[in-house]
Amino acid sequence: MGNLLRGRLGILLVGLIGLAVYWFSNQQEVPFTGRSQFNTMSIEDSVRLGAQSYVQILQQEGGNVLCSRAARSCDINERELVRTVNEIGARLQVAAVQLEEELLSQGYSFTPVASEFEWTYNVVASNQPNAFCLPGGYVAVYTGILDITGNYDGQVNMADIDDVDKLAVVMGHEIGHALAHHGAERMSQQQIVQMGSLAVGLGMGDMSAAQRQGVMQAFGMAAQGGILKFSREHETEADKIGLDLLVRACFDPREAPELWERMGEQGGGQRPPEWMSTHPASETRAENFRRWMPDAIAEYNRRCDGNIR
Ligand SMILES: [Zn+2]
Repeated sequence: MGNLLRGRLGILLVGLIGLAVYWFSNQQEVPFTGRSQFNTMSIEDSVRLGAQSYVQILQQEGGNVLCSRAARSCDINERELVRTVNEIGARLQVAAVQLEEELLSQGYSFTPVASEFEWTYNVVASNQPNAFCLPGGYVAVYTGILDITGNYDGQVNMADIDDVDKLAVVMGHEIGHALAHHGAERMSQQQIVQMGSLAVGLGMGDMSAAQRQGVMQAFGMAAQGGILKFSREHETEADKIGLDLLVRACFDPREAPELWERMGEQGGGQRPPEWMSTHPASETRAENFRRWMPDAIAEYNRRCDGNIR
């Protein structure tokens, strides 16, 4: 045993115990859902990274960023579209500040970020049905998503922003990812996986090449499975935070399940099994919304003088 511990297996054991300690000592509570997350990245660092990648992405899109300085065009429709996205964003960001204040007053301890973010909204002309919010509040909506959030008639046009609740669902969900620091969590996870593979690599010194390959493969699959599990949790969490933002910004919460159903259809029915996918299967998602909806509707009616059922 003594020899063993001085050997490579000892290095491996010490390494893995160290990683476990590192994992458990860097847990923090996500106040919106009560989930515990592994996060080693400071808010400042993640916001700085968010700003950097936002600038990079917008630069790559160049002339496609509607009504920006680099924009190829900014006609009356495009201006209207940019204005609409900014208006939805403004309502959601006020809701985010409010939600964080409520949670703080309920006794949750966390650093609120919504009032510190440099909220910025851009619309990118693109066929991609895409939208994101980077750490720091840097939001982009791609025009390819507008028909799905709009009247769903198979083409993107201005009629798609006559009713904006579904677009608010998407933006609220993306903002939810940023508020819950999912980007920082994912990077922290990737870092600890790298450290783990280093420890495993060191511990396998005497094994044959084939054995090493087998162990590394098993380790890689386990790590990938773990990361996928967390990214599905992120989606569920962003759905919940998005719903809380919707009712606080007085957008109709009942639009959320409908929107995600449409998103599910976009995959053409060939979606991968849930455990392989970063997105929750649509049944799981619909079930979550069924569970959350009574509270959301009551909250909406109370806050927004509504009368929906
Ligand atoms: Zn998401």
